[in-house]
Amino acid sequence: MNVTHLECSLTGERYEAGQRHNLSRAGKPLLVRYDTEAAKRTLTRDSLAGRASDMWKWRELLPNDVEPVSLGEPETPIIELPETAAREGASSLLVKDEGRLPTGSFKARGLAMAVTMARQFGIARIAMPTNGNAGAALAAYGARAGIETIVICPAETPEINVTETAAYGARVYVADGQIDECGALVGKGAAEDLWFDCSTLKEPYRLEGKKVMGFELAEQLGWELPDAIFYPTGGGTGLIGMWKGFDELEAVGLIGSKRPRMYAVQAEGCAPMVRAFEKGEEFAERWENAATVATGIRVPKAVGDFLILRAVRESGGAAIAVSEEAILEAVEDAARDDGFLFCPEGGAVLAAWRKALGQGLVGKDERVLLFNCANGNKYPLPDRSKRLKLAEARAEDL
Ligand SMILES: *Cc1c(COP(=O)(O)O)cnc(C)c1O
Repeated sequence: MNVTHLECSLTGERYEAGQRHNLSRAGKPLLVRYDTEAAKRTLTRDSLAGRASDMWKWRELLPNDVEPVSLGEPETPIIELPETAAREGASSLLVKDEGRLPTGSFKARGLAMAVTMARQFGIARIAMPTNGNAGAALAAYGARAGIETIVICPAETPEINVTETAAYGARVYVADGQIDECGALVGKGAAEDLWFDCSTLKEPYRLEGKKVMGFELAEQLGWELPDAIFYPTGGGTGLIGMWKGFDELEAVGLIGSKRPRMYAVQAEGCAPMVRAFEKGEEFAERWENAATVATGIRVPKAVGDFLILRAVRESGGAAIAVSEEAILEAVEDAARDDGFLFCPEGGAVLAAWRKALGQGLVGKDERVLLFNCANGNKYPLPDRSKRLKLAEARAEDL
């Protein structure tokens, strides 16, 4: 087995591999540790180049004594946005498009790994609170694995996520509260042994699937990490995962010590990380009355708050909040200028890059990578069409 042990992210306390876990005894996320000396022997630039380009090609740095539950998780492309860059006077802008994954969001990476491990541990029923995409991915991989799933969504979860989740056969509930309040009910059921709790970071393997984003971008950029990464931060799985993954890549000798500055992006209507970052705090207080169109980052309280803040600070990055108007404007601009449709959370990321440029946090000639986290087609857009009566229509007037 390539996993040596798990470790409490706060205290460093060790936990055994090969059995199911949730949070550590300190109530904090567990991190999976690998035999990187062994990984180093077979995980090389050359060996990687010869492997099928999906997330499982990183098997030395994922739990590897399991049969993956897979729906085909492709390596996602990095797309240039030349017009979007030029509009701000920047020389280039890159976006890693995670909308191409099964169920249309990057949640597929994490849930493919978590459900793989759950099946390995003989878990029959899983529950989670979700703002939408995680629930859809859990339900899809659960269906694939023959595991029963129960999903509880806050009231403003996008309808497409709710209906999609039900289509995979999950039991879906739309609740009158925020995601952390839905999570409290999931935790209660788990304590009563009704199901396994697969909430963000309360289960250690989602993070492992998500960190593969960092592996992929390193290889795609020629093993030279970018100057800055902008990431839409809800629970922070991806940001924490990539930060962990970069250290693993260095440990196996695939990259050096250079790291990108990590920018955690939130909406002004739900910005607990930004507030904690600005106050210099290690942990973030709950954000009351959270509201934003970017529902994927509507997370008032994150169990990995200190890990997000640590990565942002260690990297020399920042936590940035953007307005609802800036989010919607960014989505529309990129679609018109570059033919690229961001999801609202991706729009927040683009808006944050623009804001950071304006504040001089990033340079116009720096290599910057944004994350688009879900397929833009999953979200309602303004209807700008006009009505047409065909009998009276004149082609030359259109
Ligand atoms: C879950 C989600 C996020 C937040 O991701 P984390 O890694 O949990 O912070 C952002 N955008 C979308 C579309 C999501 O589904």
